[in-house]
Amino acid sequence: MNRQILHIDMNNCFASIEMKLRPELRGIPLVVSASHDGRHGIVLAKSEEAKIFNIKTAEPIWMAKKRCKDLKIVEPHYDEYKKHSIWAREIYYSYTNQVEPFSLDEAWLDITGSTKLFGTPLEIANTIRQRIKDELGITVSVGLSFNKIFAKLASDIARPDSVNEIRKDNFKQIVWPMKISNMMGIGQASVKKLNEAGIFSLGDIAKTKREELEKILGSHGEKIWDQVNGLDNSEVKDFHHLDPIKSISHGRTFIENLDSKEEIRYVFHRLAQKVSRRLIEENLEAMGVQISVKDKDLKQESFQKILDYSSFSSIVLRDTALDLFENYKWDKSIRFLELRAINLTKDSNVQTNFLADFKDEDKKSKLDKAIFNLQNNFGKDMVKLGYSPDLDERYGDEKFER
Ligand SMILES: [Mg+2]
Repeated sequence: MNRQILHIDMNNCFASIEMKLRPELRGIPLVVSASHDGRHGIVLAKSEEAKIFNIKTAEPIWMAKKRCKDLKIVEPHYDEYKKHSIWAREIYYSYTNQVEPFSLDEAWLDITGSTKLFGTPLEIANTIRQRIKDELGITVSVGLSFNKIFAKLASDIARPDSVNEIRKDNFKQIVWPMKISNMMGIGQASVKKLNEAGIFSLGDIAKTKREELEKILGSHGEKIWDQVNGLDNSEVKDFHHLDPIKSISHGRTFIENLDSKEEIRYVFHRLAQKVSRRLIEENLEAMGVQISVKDKDLKQESFQKILDYSSFSSIVLRDTALDLFENYKWDKSIRFLELRAINLTKDSNVQTNFLADFKDEDKKSKLDKAIFNLQNNFGKDMVKLGYSPDLDERYGDEKFER
């Protein structure tokens, strides 16, 4: 099936937002620059009127001023740019859940699955363009194509406030006459190498043998050959709608099999700390704990338990793991142990057993958070939830297989 990909690019994003916030800036040559003294500043963004003076992004202000004496220079307001970026994304997400931001002012949308609900791809593109204009007060260029690379190219060459389509039946006429530097992902070094090989247009790349490009640019050469021939099949990555993490686990296989309760206690103590750390990092709590045990013949058994209260505390995780281990019929030495936090939740202290008393869960959790913060500030070795230096020595990381 043909994919339908949009690339949406806010026109002169920073400059447009400044003009929206201060309408008196409209209609004059204007650039956004972080430095007012004109000596060190560079152009971060420019208005349509400034483009008439051939002013370029990243150009030093003093050079731009030489060509345009009345150039108005304004300070950037990044908080405003971020706000607009988030508002635009909210609009994009109302048409598809596949949105890949490329920068503050650009994003790809895969709308292949949206046409039944919202109209043809061109209609969707135009609806979004109009909504951004009406609701955000700035304009966008929208590229529509059957892959990400051509969608980006289509928006790059689109007029402001318009939709431009590159199709399977016209991409050769549109894309191939372009200079190779117009395509994203071909940097200056590659351009130089390709030029030296007599390759100047994107069409030249398409007509060169794929193996030949591989010789010039390595695997990157093969990739861009595929791209100019319309074979780019990279996905629109969906950063916002990540699959929720279902569980967090740490396990260890031992070089020397474990035979004593003391060793088991120590290993669960260590694994619990690692799992706890991950939970804190992900801002999650476990409502249950599962352990897996493998003996030296690789026979595996698992046990699990729901906690009375959700927790990220390593003490709770460790003690629960040890309780669960009591169910294990231990007759051979142990080769592998794993501790898994399950039934994860974003909420804190979720009560799962309504008969349970609220004990000192809070204190245990605070201890783990304090250690987490100390380790982040001073390094992991600076502070540990103590067990026994003697066991650290005997069963520390070096005793684990990697
Ligand atoms: Mg832009």
